[in-house]
Amino acid sequence: NRQIRLARRPKGMPDESCFEMTEEAIPRLREKEVLVRTLYLSVDPYMRGRMNEGKSYVPPFPLGEVIVGGVVGEVVDSRHPDFAKGDLVVGQLGWQDYSVAPGKHLTKIDPDLAPITTALGILGMPGLTAYFGMVDIGKPKSGETVVVSGAAGAVGSAAGQIAKLHGCRVVGIAGSEEKIRYITEELGFDAAINYKTVPDIRKALSQACPKGVDIYFDNVGGDITDAVLTKINYQARIVLCGQIALYNLEKPDVGPRNFTRLLINSAMMKGFIVSDYADRFPEGMKRLTEWVSQGKLKYRETIIEGLENTPRAFLGLFRGENIGKQLVKVADP
Ligand code: NDP
Repeated sequence: NRQIRLARRPKGMPDESCFEMTEEAIPRLREKEVLVRTLYLSVDPYMRGRMNEGKSYVPPFPLGEVIVGGVVGEVVDSRHPDFAKGDLVVGQLGWQDYSVAPGKHLTKIDPDLAPITTALGILGMPGLTAYFGMVDIGKPKSGETVVVSGAAGAVGSAAGQIAKLHGCRVVGIAGSEEKIRYITEELGFDAAINYKTVPDIRKALSQACPKGVDIYFDNVGGDITDAVLTKINYQARIVLCGQIALYNLEKPDVGPRNFTRLLINSAMMKGFIVSDYADRFPEGMKRLTEWVSQGKLKYRETIIEGLENTPRAFLGLFRGENIGKQLVKVADP
């Protein structure tokens, strides 16, 4: 059983030396446990926080242990009454070929409903994050202007489309021309800004948002957020979903800046963690599944093959190598 472990804690931007691949025999199943063969695994920006020593909202990955993350897999052996060989499941398992987990930590997925990879993306944690962040905190109303940063990623691409479904004008900010084309031409965003090439992001925002910004769904923080805050309207809602631009800083950034804009506009900024909404996941899943099956909510996945390439896939998130949800394919179903 090949496994990827945390070899050292990074300072600043992590690299491949933070990870090591080891091999170990598969443990024997105990009562109520299930053996799962990994098919796809998810790499997510929040995992960067878990590589640090200090506690965030999730405890740090222990040094030397297998990295834990979202996995879609196939049951190959079971000592739990609810699971049988061949079942497809999703759960927080490990960066490894096989995982042993208590059955109560696994959820069955129906491959006839949607491709199984979606359980890690649009019909999983990132989709739910977009849904609750936009609907519950953003509270989009028809005709409002919405800006989404990290707009071509797993969460951002869904958040922008959900705002479109509520009748909003949606402007995305992303880091490549391919991403700009994707969100405007395929996802129906009304305008998009390439933050890496635009000479003046404030001017570009003014042009793209002639009526100002009513909702800002923030995945990145930093300079982009500083700029968007200068454009917010009276009673704007700022959904603080992620701050990826800050995750690899060795020293905390100066700021946040432009908070006077919140004050003079009676605006609100609210952070959240998707698990805050755990009791409403069924509602979110129902809406997301309906929209996906009706073709109203599109999604893309960037898939790298091979367990050994998982660190590279993870590090690619911080270089913007993914469009939509970044996954690793570990084995064929
Ligand atoms: P993405 O699919 O959006 O992948 C990350 C993207 O972030 C990259 O593709 C890149 O796109 C962009 N990025 C990377 N570095 C920077 C930078 N320095 N400045 C600006 N953009 C950058 O990831 P997710 O959709 O999974 O997550 C998006 C955000 O949401 C993250 O901040 C994550 O932590 C947060 N999140 C929060 C949750 C919650 O419960 N609150 C749950 C899930 C995610 P580009 O080419 O455009 O730069």
